[in-house]
Amino acid sequence: MLEQLPVYQPGRPIEEVARQFGLDPAGIIKLASNENPLGPSRLALRAARAALRDMHLYPDGNAYYLKQKLAAHLRVRPENIILGNGSNEVLELIGHAVLGPGAEAVVSQYCFAVYPIVTHLFGARLVEVPARNYGHDLDAMLGAVGPATRVIFVANPNNPTGTRVPNVELLRFVNSVPAHVLVVIDEAYYEYMEDPPDLIELVRSGARPNLVVTRTFSKIYGLAGLRLGYGIAHESIVSALEKIRQPFNTNAVAQAAALAALDDTAHVRRTRALNRRGLRYFARELKRLGLEFVPSEANFILVRVGDGRGVFERMQQQGVIVRPMGGYGLPDWVRITTGTHAQNVRCIDVLKSVLGLGAG
Ligand SMILES: *Cc1c(COP(=O)(O)O)cnc(C)c1O
Repeated sequence: MLEQLPVYQPGRPIEEVARQFGLDPAGIIKLASNENPLGPSRLALRAARAALRDMHLYPDGNAYYLKQKLAAHLRVRPENIILGNGSNEVLELIGHAVLGPGAEAVVSQYCFAVYPIVTHLFGARLVEVPARNYGHDLDAMLGAVGPATRVIFVANPNNPTGTRVPNVELLRFVNSVPAHVLVVIDEAYYEYMEDPPDLIELVRSGARPNLVVTRTFSKIYGLAGLRLGYGIAHESIVSALEKIRQPFNTNAVAQAAALAALDDTAHVRRTRALNRRGLRYFARELKRLGLEFVPSEANFILVRVGDGRGVFERMQQQGVIVRPMGGYGLPDWVRITTGTHAQNVRCIDVLKSVLGLGAG
């Protein structure tokens, strides 16, 4: 079974690319993993440094302060929050809880790679529903639910396509999923959205006991290296997931940094503004170059370049790391994260030169 398990292919680290091509790491830019180009919040950095002094102590396994703060922030109860070593761990805990041989998970074509991995990890069957315009076809996904379905995974916005579903459609969908099926809405890019849906209200009111919303500190909060994510759900789900997790799954430094990051609303605002500018810039330049792209609601953009792997490799040699999409069934495409404006300009220049589209 392990031989057939798909492998997650992460964005290539800067150090690794520098070693391979004999480049100066300082001259390489990574626009491959949807990280925050502004880095972490200064408040988070200071809190993390202070927390290092106590690294000889085990962390608070229940993360009392972080759960209190998140609960206040989201207007839910601490009992509605499950923390994970990245939201990827929350997805895995869900797999542990509900998947196994004979069970099915419903996903969309072009879904986040972790859903198929978790599904196969627990020996369950993956039901992949064709995408519509690169986005989720929620009606078709509902239609794919059968008696063996245990979970549906929807990322909104979706990675790697950047698409989102309209709020009314999403709410109708969440309210239509049968009670025996867990509906997981992955909101890793929630903070980047204009006009985001309010799914937390369905947890707050107790209306949807089969709903799990996942979020992360890896993306807009800029803490990907510390690994901290969370799920928001009915307390019955949270208490089940709490039994499965390792007692110290989230570390003390990450907890301290996350607490401080929640206070730094200016950093979040700046990041969001930078991303909007980046998306507008990419859209304008890609149009000018005559390259097809999928309009994005996240902090990255999917671009059709022809030979995605080849373009990725040649850009990498010029010190710009993007993400090839062959593993997602999109071999003609690369995914580019928005960076600082200077990084975005350099990325377009290198893309142009690699594609032979004028000066580079
Ligand atoms: C980046 C991402 C995550 C976050 O993963 P972490 O484990 O929290 O770093 C989750 N879901 C999607 C769709 C993502 O793109």
